[in-house]
Amino acid sequence: MSRTPLAVANWKMNTDLETARVLAQAARDILAGNPIDLDIVLCPPFPWLVPVAEALDGSPVGLGAQDCSPERDGAFTGDVSAAMLAPWCGFVIVGHSERRHGHGETDALVRRKLDAVLGEGMRPILCIGELEAERESGQTGTVIEAQVQAALDGLPESAIARVIVAYEPVWAIGTGRTATAADAQEVAARVRSLLAVRAPAHAETISILYGGSVKAENVAALTAGPDVDGVLVGSASLDPAGFAALCRELVAGPG
Ligand code: PEP
Repeated sequence: MSRTPLAVANWKMNTDLETARVLAQAARDILAGNPIDLDIVLCPPFPWLVPVAEALDGSPVGLGAQDCSPERDGAFTGDVSAAMLAPWCGFVIVGHSERRHGHGETDALVRRKLDAVLGEGMRPILCIGELEAERESGQTGTVIEAQVQAALDGLPESAIARVIVAYEPVWAIGTGRTATAADAQEVAARVRSLLAVRAPAHAETISILYGGSVKAENVAALTAGPDVDGVLVGSASLDPAGFAALCRELVAGPG
């Protein structure tokens, strides 16, 4: 089963408005012209969603938010609901490690956010991944399984079919260290088998990404495994030329 390679750009709390527009135009350019077997989703900071949506108008580049509130509306100062994002975004990242570990988000909260995103007709990009100590003590599989279970158990198969999963070992995010290609494939295959139990008809079409210090130089190797369908990219998505090179290498594969 072939799945279209996917590159998700997580700009985090970076860029100014002008840079955001330049990056959006650069992403448009990657998919313009010759047909290319690639999907791109840009996840800018909240204030740039509308200008980036305008800059992407008419292009196949997707737009995503980096987070959302689990609540629909009300007295939640500073939060942004899924309903507010839905007019602009097709995707929302949920459970990024900088939310789980930097803001104390629990599996239960991640699930509520995922439900909110699905409820508004958008697609969640569900981030999962183990801490370094968990990997060293051989708990990677258990951690991944618990995160998938908390996020997806009880959802109808048609909802699970809309989820994108990003395996991001926490110790590899923003550190310059990566999982090995074999480890990325092993975890992705495990995730796919967890999906197969919950949504047998869809497990082969769900995209599973790797994230953690991906750049043009290592993307082909890290996505060589048959179950690794693309990447979630942080720092390397902030340089237009570097991100374009990364996308080219992702499509070209290990060669
Ligand atoms: C991320 O933001 O999820 C990420 C993987 O960041 P980086 O590529 O900088 O490690």
